[in-house]
Formats: sequence, C-alpha cells, structure tokens
Amino acid sequence: MNHHSVLLVVDVQNGFTPGGNLAVAHADHIIPTINQLAQQFTHVVLTQDWHPHNHISFVENHVGKQAYQQIELDYGTQVLWPSHCVQGTPDAELHPDLNIQHAQLIIRKGFNAQIDSYSAFQEADRKTKTGLAGYLKERDIQQVFVVGIATDFCVAWSAIDSAELGFTTYVVQDACQGIDLDGSLAQAWQAMLHAGVKRIQAVDVPTYLTQGDCA
Ligand SMILES: [Zn+2]
Repeated sequence: MNHHSVLLVVDVQNGFTPGGNLAVAHADHIIPTINQLAQQFTHVVLTQDWHPHNHISFVENHVGKQAYQQIELDYGTQVLWPSHCVQGTPDAELHPDLNIQHAQLIIRKGFNAQIDSYSAFQEADRKTKTGLAGYLKERDIQQVFVVGIATDFCVAWSAIDSAELGFTTYVVQDACQGIDLDGSLAQAWQAMLHAGVKRIQAVDVPTYLTQGDCA
C-alpha cells in the first residue's frame, strides 16, 4: 500500500458498458482488473458522468445534427453524443460489477447543462474546477493511477490534467477501454505521452507503487 497514491476510476457506469446508451464495446471486460487493482490502493476515487436531460453534449438537443458529429461551442470543439448518463437514471449508475467498497469519493461531472466535462479535474471550458485537485493535494497524494472508460476521452483528459497539475500520472492501459472515433485513440495516447503521462499495464502497478514509497 502506498499512502501517497490514488486509483482514479473513470466512468465505470451502465451507460458506457454493453446495454448502455453510449455503450463502449467490451468495456465491461476491464471491470475485474479494476476491482483487483483497487485492492492495492488505500485511496480510491470514482467518477460518475452525471448529466441533466438538456445537456449540451446530447445530439437530441441539437436539431439537424448527427450523433458523433463535432460542433464548435464557446469553449471549443464538442462531440455530440447520444443522450447518456442522465441524472437519476439506471444508465447513470455505477456498473453493478464494480466492487470497490473502500472508495472514498465519487466525483460527479457534466452536471452543468451548458458545459461538458470529460476530465475529473475541470469542465471542458478549462476553467470550472471540480475540486478534485484540491482534495488530492490536501490528502498528500502524489501519484495518480487512472483506469476506466473511455481511454480516448474521459480517461485521457483526466490523465493530462493530472500530469499538468504536477501529479506523477500513470494510465493503466489494460484497465481502460477506448471508443476510437476516427483515430481518436492514437491521438489521445500521443497527447497523454506528450503531457508526461506514463503508459503502464496492470501487472506493473505494484512496482510503481513501491517506487512511490521510496521517493
Ligand atoms: Zn457525458
């Protein structure tokens, strides 16, 4: 156990797994790995995509647009997604196979109707903070290990923000599942590695946790 490390479990929800409104193929297959990894961490934080029904990222709220089309908003480019993870619906619930009873915090994100929030740290306007950075710093967390869905969106944006905030940041590749829209997965890995994020596999996590203890 390393008391200066956190496992950040991104959006392992019904909506992003098979049967969900924005299902990512095979995303349920990573859940046993995430459950096993969690046993190695004292500190676990979960995120939960948590949208109002009139959310700006939903294609249903834009007349004449297609799902997965990109549009330009005040804060930048936005992919239009099928309506997903609406507050209070089964689609927004954490996946029932996720079994991390000692998780200490659930960060809900995307609740602002006018701004999407892929990152666990800040909304897509790059200004509105979720408070997670302050929480981790007050808990003296130095290493952030990111897992979950989807590698090329919420995982990548969270990991890049984490690295830019000064946390030593790892993405556990085989505990993540990507969507890959037009090459977005390769682009996301390139951006993560450029930001200093380290790409590791689940089997390697104990080694990095030990290194963190010595630092
Ligand atoms: Zn969303």
